[in-house]
Amino acid sequence: MPVIDRIADLSEEITAWRHDLHAHPELQYDVHRTAGFVADKLRAFGCDEVVTGIGRTGVVGVIRGRAHGSNRAIGLRADMDALPIQEIRDLPYRSTAPGKMHACGHDGHTAMLLGAAKYLAETRDFDGRAVLIFQPAEEGGGGGEAMVQDGMMERFGVEAVYGLHNVPGQPLGTFAIRPGPIMASTDRFTILIEGRGGHAALPQAAVDTVLVASHIVVALQSIVARNIDPLDSAVVSVCAVEAGEAFNVLPQTAELRGTMRALTPAVRGLMRERLAAIAENVAAAFGAQASVDFASGYPATENHPAETDFMADIAAQIVGEERVERDVAPMMAAEDFSYMLAHRPGAYIFMGNGDSAGLHHPEYDFNDAAIPYGTSLWARIIETGLPARE
Ligand SMILES: [Zn+2]
Ligand SMILES: [Zn+2]
Repeated sequence: MPVIDRIADLSEEITAWRHDLHAHPELQYDVHRTAGFVADKLRAFGCDEVVTGIGRTGVVGVIRGRAHGSNRAIGLRADMDALPIQEIRDLPYRSTAPGKMHACGHDGHTAMLLGAAKYLAETRDFDGRAVLIFQPAEEGGGGGEAMVQDGMMERFGVEAVYGLHNVPGQPLGTFAIRPGPIMASTDRFTILIEGRGGHAALPQAAVDTVLVASHIVVALQSIVARNIDPLDSAVVSVCAVEAGEAFNVLPQTAELRGTMRALTPAVRGLMRERLAAIAENVAAAFGAQASVDFASGYPATENHPAETDFMADIAAQIVGEERVERDVAPMMAAEDFSYMLAHRPGAYIFMGNGDSAGLHHPEYDFNDAAIPYGTSLWARIIETGLPARE
């Protein structure tokens, strides 16, 4: 069972929506035009329910199957927000908003879920409810969490939830998934080091925070190398170092900022513990003081085994078993869909974007040739997961 014929027929229309969304990128929760575009389309397709303003600017559409025996519901999720990046390609549908662009393909994700909505509202060949979830603020704003906190799962009776992301470099017409963690958790840290400022010619009278910061940066790399089990995955990256301004002044303070990523809560907790201990104790060894501040980012995206198998089986129906990788390596980036998977069983799959520039790159563009695959996947998850009885 390859791509659904009717969806292949709709591809041109879905592509036009994608280009419209691409030309009008919006950031974080400020996705008013996009959410309006989505809600208008869902209403025009004849969705049974269209609710806006969930999780501030999220939209949910509900389509009932033709058979009315079941009240079961499956959620499908797309993200709507763009990134603060200046697009550099001269596409006919290039961004009209300076400094903003759809560099993560959320325009494609939104258009494909709209395409599935149009198809499902037309055919309704299932028993139960398709819950189409369009979230704001995936790029660091926690829009998925906001929708969950707003009671979305309970309100729409969502029993299982599925998500998808395009992946540049993964061949077009392929899917990749794995049970367990597929995307990492992320935590931000800020380390403030307090020493004693002074004259560069009189180091004996000062506590040099530049030297202390340098030792901390080096020592932090021992967390992954020496504290984490080599068979687990973890990353510590110091991404900002701030100290001093002059050639001849030892600065009183220094600040380090960065992120830590892990695939399991145990590794995540161990990294926090070790980072604080190393920063505080290295500073103390030099006569300085370090204080550490953590800001929790997204948890790891944890695929549930049964739903992962189900999603992989549907993908295999569309593109063939040999084009579905069922044990792909996880990515150490983080994903807001993790909050939905923390509340309901479900799975998240990677879809090939072919040979394109990378995600978050100013030359990136979603591959329209992937639209029939992703849209068919959504439609079949509903038709197979909520089968209409004969
Ligand atoms: Zn992104
Ligand atoms: Zn993304």
